[in-house]
This record gives sequence, structure tokens and C-alpha cells, in this order.
Amino acid sequence: MSLIKGETGDWEVVLGLEVHAQVVSESKLFSGAPTAFGAEPNTQVSLVDAAMPGMLPVINARCVEQAVRTGLGLKAQINLRSVFDRKNYFYADLPAGYQISQYKDPIVGEGEIILDLKDGATRTVGIERLHLEQDAGKSLHDQHPSQTYVDLNRSGIALMEIVSKPDMRDAEEAAAYLTKLRSILRYLGTCDGNMEEGSMRCDVNVSVRKPGAPLGTRCEIKNVNSIRFVRQAIEYEARRQIEIIEGGGTIHQETRLYDAAKGETRSMRSKEDAHDYRYFPDPDLLPLVLQPDWVEKIKASLPELPDERKARYVKDFGLSIYDAGVLVAEKETAVFFEAVAKGRDAKQAANWVTGDFFAMLKRRGIGIEDSPISAAALGKLLDLIADGTISGRIAKDLFLAMDETGKDPAVLVEERGLKQVTDTGAIDAAVKAIIEANPDKVAQYREKPSLFGWFVGQVMKSTGGKANPKAVNEALKKQLDA
Ligand code: MN
Repeated sequence: MSLIKGETGDWEVVLGLEVHAQVVSESKLFSGAPTAFGAEPNTQVSLVDAAMPGMLPVINARCVEQAVRTGLGLKAQINLRSVFDRKNYFYADLPAGYQISQYKDPIVGEGEIILDLKDGATRTVGIERLHLEQDAGKSLHDQHPSQTYVDLNRSGIALMEIVSKPDMRDAEEAAAYLTKLRSILRYLGTCDGNMEEGSMRCDVNVSVRKPGAPLGTRCEIKNVNSIRFVRQAIEYEARRQIEIIEGGGTIHQETRLYDAAKGETRSMRSKEDAHDYRYFPDPDLLPLVLQPDWVEKIKASLPELPDERKARYVKDFGLSIYDAGVLVAEKETAVFFEAVAKGRDAKQAANWVTGDFFAMLKRRGIGIEDSPISAAALGKLLDLIADGTISGRIAKDLFLAMDETGKDPAVLVEERGLKQVTDTGAIDAAVKAIIEANPDKVAQYREKPSLFGWFVGQVMKSTGGKANPKAVNEALKKQLDA
């Protein structure tokens, strides 16, 4: 937690996040229309999604299962009875005039998320609730000079609204929360977490107070679509509120927008309260009642989640908490690492994956799924080090060659003659040549034994890095101290 300095002393920022996560499902929450991203406008719209008179919603069991799975992954209370309500408001891209959501009786109650902060510290943030609701359509204002078009493809797609408790205290924690939530959702396979495509959108509630004081009035920043923007919006909004209060003003509860181009938030509308929406139970839908054994079955099918995986890496592989955290953050990375580590030195595997391998992905600007070096190939490289075929120093060059050519490491070792020289005759000869060529250094060495490293470097250089370092050390000691 970090406090913000104002003119009247320190201020504490209080943050609560509401995340709308699009459910991974072939069809919509109450209709059979498909949900693929990027389809032609209005091609994925059933009569239910277009709110034609007399159409009836039918709940999609898959979406319910995904919400329960997510609740279980967040160690949350699963409510066996929940209710769908109509949230009434008028908007051009909401043809029914209401959104089917859940209000007083959500499908998932209180849970928690453990944040991974810098230097291995953790912090627990409470989850208030998770409910299922429909997405609205999309208004397109930039297609025609004087008209707005409406695309209903998104209308009716299932969303999980995941509401945190106001437990976060700075932009860092909010970013850690979103990162971890996204990671859990992707492990569970319940949301793809793609913020650019809008499948995860974040509303940020920001208020400020003097430490220990009651909660201040909050403003809600709507639909922020990247973690970087969430950070920026929080920093800006907290300062804005502090300046107003210190200037003698008061904060009014309102909904604001973050303008990424200008780096500021600005007022959108005064915040409506829940009663403005005239919530009432949707008469077309019965309360949703789940069977306990069905929930149990989902629980039994949960994958190993990042926190558990991280603990296992520390316990079984002896990795540092930091390295373990880096490796489990994305499921794909964890799977890759385990394939490399299987039957090998796990610590060495972790060093290669988080070191040279990550650097290669970064250099190429690609994700692990597009890596030119497979886990099997990296594993083979480790085997070549382990059986003494190549030195650790040559392994670095070999890795770069694998990146360049996509070839098998053993093939490259043959082609490029990278085999480690362990033949003591050859090494002795190389050592002898260096000593004979540098009588002055040999004389200096007698006074200053730390020059030994210089000789090691010269021999390695003259052998193209291929000499076995241990053998070089031994041969040098023998000949220099003779
Ligand atoms: Mn919502």
C-alpha cells in the first residue's frame, strides 16, 4: 500500500473493481446464437437477442457451469438458488429495454483472490459476488456522418460480473488483482481474458480518505480495457479527488470515462443508484436451482490453479517463490516449463525458461504458442549440457542458433562442431601455447595469482569456447604452478 502526499498530509486510496468477463461458450446466455468474435455485424442474432415480441429466454446450461466453475476457482460460496432479474434502462443497443442480470440473489457469493505483489509478497482481496448477465449490443457512431448503426452480435452474450470488495489501496494492487483474476479465468477456461477484444472489461471504483477515516464518496470509471490504462486512470482520478477536497470542494458520486489519449478521466453521467433501474425478477425465468452433486462434479474436475501450482514448484522443485510465480502466471508457460523439466534438473530448466527463452520471445515479440523452439528441443539442449557434450557457455550460442534455424540442437552441434573438447592432450597443448606466448603475464601471475582468470579466458577463446572449463582449470594450474 502506498499513500499519496497532499497539501494537508497523506491520503489513502480505496479501490474496488468490477470486472465483466465474457463466458467461454459456443452460444449465448439465453439463446442458441453463436458468439464468435469479429463476425459480420448482425449475423449472430437470434429473435431472442433482438427482443422480438413473444420470444422467451432459455438458460444455457454451459454458461451456468462456467459461472460455477469460476466461483469454485475463486474459493467462493456457490448459491444453489439464484434469481434472474430485469435491470431496466433505455439504450439504442438494448432492444428489450432491460438487461437480464442477477441482483439480490447472485449465483456466486463471497470468495477471494490472492495477489502476487513485488518481492514475493502476497495479499488477499475479497470477492463480494459473481453474477451472470447478458451483454448489450454495440452502437457504431463512426460509420455514417449523421446516423448511428447498431450491431447486435454481442447482444445476449453471457457475462460474469465479478465484484471485488473495496480492499485494494493503490494502482499496483489493482493491476495485480486483474493479472491474477485473468490468470485464474484462463486456467479455468471460463474466459479468454482478452482485454483488447473486450472479453474482459474493468470498472474501477475510486475514493480517497485520510488513513483511518470513514470511506469517501466514490467515482466509478467505466470500461477500462487494459491493465496499463487501469493504473493510469487510478493515478489520475485519485489526484483529482484529493485536489478537489483540499480545495474545499466535495466529490459527487458519478460515472466517469478514462480518456487514454489525454490521460484523464471525465464525467459521463451522475451515478444512478440501484433503485433507478427498477430491478424485478424476470417473470420469463424460474429461479435457477442447482443440484449439490452437480456442483461437486464440477469441483472435482477443476484443474490445478496458479496458487497451488506455485506452491508445488517451490516444494517439489525447490524453485524460489519469485521464479515459481513467473512460471505459473500463464498456463501455457507452466505446461512448457514442466515439459522441459520432466526428468531433468528443474532449477536449471527454470533458469533457461525464465532467462534465455523468455528473452528470445521478447526479442521476437511473440507469445509462447509461436515459439520456434519447442519444449522438447530445449530439453535436448539441457541433456547435451548434462552429458558433457557441450559446455554451458556454448549452450548459449547453441540456443541462439536453434532460434535462428529452428534445427534440432544435436544436429547443430554436429554441423557446427560445437562439441566440448575434453581431450586433455588438446587442452594441454592450448594451455602451453598461451603460456609460451605471454611470458610477461606469467611473471605477473607469480606476484598476483588473481590473474589466473585471465589465462582461463584466453584458453577458452583460443578453443572457441569449446574446451571443458574444468579440464582447462586443471591443466592451467598444473602448468603455471610447475
Ligand atoms: Mn454489469
